[in-house]
Amino acid sequence: MRPYKSPNYNQRTGQIKYLIMHYTGMSSGQEALERLCDEKSAVSAHYLIEEDGEVFSLVDEHRRAWHAGLSKWENDQDINDLSIGIEIVNSGHPFEGYESIYKEFPQKQMEAVLELSKIIINRHNIKPWHILGHSDVAWRRKIDPGELFNWQWLSDHGVGIYSDMEIDQADVEIGAPEIGEFLQKLEKYGYDIEGCYNKPRELITAFQRHFRQTNIDGELDSQTVAIIDYLLNVKFS
Ligand SMILES: [Zn+2]
Repeated sequence: MRPYKSPNYNQRTGQIKYLIMHYTGMSSGQEALERLCDEKSAVSAHYLIEEDGEVFSLVDEHRRAWHAGLSKWENDQDINDLSIGIEIVNSGHPFEGYESIYKEFPQKQMEAVLELSKIIINRHNIKPWHILGHSDVAWRRKIDPGELFNWQWLSDHGVGIYSDMEIDQADVEIGAPEIGEFLQKLEKYGYDIEGCYNKPRELITAFQRHFRQTNIDGELDSQTVAIIDYLLNVKFS
């Protein structure tokens, strides 16, 4: 692990309970490192992981790094104060004024993510349902680390939760009354559902981006419902 110190942090006042995954969304790892260490950017993370698996340590874990921004999970609104943030080098999705082809995360990089995550989880006793993407805790603003981030592989190797159940009627569309019920379940799991009842598509997409990566169409179907039921069962059993 290479130190590459960022000045962008302050005192932590809470206990670490979350691990938050990001992608850098820039054209190179070097560019991302420079931004995360630039005082003017006012952003940072505890770690950055290069495509070849090299790990940089930017902020000490006992300090509060600035990676999550405006965010919420369960009743926690200051995720930075309660989390470790990992930036994973990936050029990310394109957006207006930024051209990019969103690509899979190389295996070497994922292995480094896995190894580092295991250490962090053990050190701070982080629960599997508190290992989240930026898009889970800030779904109105963020889509990283995205649908190509291999949560399933991480879960298979002991980091986080992913349901790989096979459901026959995956494409059965679910009616409007069930959408309210589904949103209640998302809230119980931790998502911020405020103001969602009229336009839940964006939140459903965010949920699928993490937990049903093969299809992120934002439609509520029986498989998506079965997955939240599975997650709730794991969290509350
Ligand atoms: Zn992010």
